[in-house]
Amino acid sequence: MDSAGLGDRAARLLSRAIRIPTVNPPGNEASLAALYVETLRAAGLEGELIETPHGVEPGQDPGARGSAARRAGAWGRLRGTGAGRPVVLLSHLDVVPADPLEWELDPFSGAIRDGRVHGRGALDAKGVSVIHLLALTELSRRESPLSRDLIFLATPDEERGGRLGAGYVTRERPELLGNAELMLTEGGGIQPGGGETPAIWAVTVNEKTPCWLELRTTGETRHSAAPAPDAAVPRLIAALDRVRRIETPITVLPEVADMFRAMGAAAPDESRAGYRDLSRALREDPAFRRRFLRNPSRNALVRDTIAITVLEGALSTNVVPGTARAELDVRLLPGTSCSAFRAQLAEVIDDDAVLIRELMSFTPTRPSPGEGSPLLRAIRTIAAAEEPGAVVVPRLIGGSTDAHWFRELGIASYGFVPRRLAPSDALGIHGRNEAVSIQNLEDAVRILVELLVVLDADTQP
Ligand SMILES: [Zn+2]
Repeated sequence: MDSAGLGDRAARLLSRAIRIPTVNPPGNEASLAALYVETLRAAGLEGELIETPHGVEPGQDPGARGSAARRAGAWGRLRGTGAGRPVVLLSHLDVVPADPLEWELDPFSGAIRDGRVHGRGALDAKGVSVIHLLALTELSRRESPLSRDLIFLATPDEERGGRLGAGYVTRERPELLGNAELMLTEGGGIQPGGGETPAIWAVTVNEKTPCWLELRTTGETRHSAAPAPDAAVPRLIAALDRVRRIETPITVLPEVADMFRAMGAAAPDESRAGYRDLSRALREDPAFRRRFLRNPSRNALVRDTIAITVLEGALSTNVVPGTARAELDVRLLPGTSCSAFRAQLAEVIDDDAVLIRELMSFTPTRPSPGEGSPLLRAIRTIAAAEEPGAVVVPRLIGGSTDAHWFRELGIASYGFVPRRLAPSDALGIHGRNEAVSIQNLEDAVRILVELLVVLDADTQP
């Protein structure tokens, strides 16, 4: 296959994509979706702009931000022979905000400098869309078709929960997915090794479930020179004080036990034995337990977490407000429902005057198959060829992507983009100075192409 200039083509497309502003809210993703559709069609592939609702979020004024935005998704397809079921390559069009004052380069200029493409979305997730799109165009130049259809899907609204993007597509336009068996999306990738440490190919098989809650108290609005004792703000603070003291129980799910067992080989000496049997080590080895839980990312993998994020009271020092509210970002281990958690929380708060409302929640999902999955098998094959000694780790992540919408439909979904991201690169995701190297883009397209070809060979009857 002639892949000359692959990295440069990827960089140019990504740079154009970054220059199209899609900060959500309001998203305004239609122009970017149109760029992808046009690129797919120019390469001779099927491409379609998907109308998606503009929508108003809960708690948002109709007519406020968002309603004037032009939103859409992009869909494309490379037809296979039909001997195997389709694979969906999913990414999202929207990005989180970026403050130009905090960046070294303008986050929306798409500058290509020092072998890297810079800007918001370079990694999350315009870079992913570009890798998917170019993998499809590379594969379209093969002489014999693959057995599976490959479906490109880039949706709006992921950064705000995806209800108006992937949620809409899975609910209202499932025909766009064919009878897909597999899905690949963001949420995993290659962590480079170094020295004694092998590279880790992290493949996400499940995600924690966000459960966003609002706590609201009410009282009398009055002059703050004569406050009443049961005003809204002190009442809310008392409730939040109980919330912040909650110690959620530790639970090691099978996918998490498997994940740490696989990571054992790459773990520091003092943790290796504990990783082999995480559940027992957390129960029986207090020193290991302390070390493990001290790391917030690891802690989040074995328990529900509660972050108090938004606080609202009066807008002025000399007013006792009639209402006070707080928002909690609760992340549940798969299997727990938001309503069950809310009921437990109400018991802990133990104050009927504190109203608890669900702002957002997802249906808990079961993990996509680890062993026995043809996709995971293909990833293992490519990892062994690409990077002998690399460890493939199926894992749970504390964050969440749009994958759950597809898991709910029974599509085995995996978070894996074959990019090599050092921890310092990954800081750019939702952070400052997001960038990706052209080499990384090129390697990712090449590895994804090989992965899909190996998967196809495994599919042939
Ligand atoms: Zn993302």
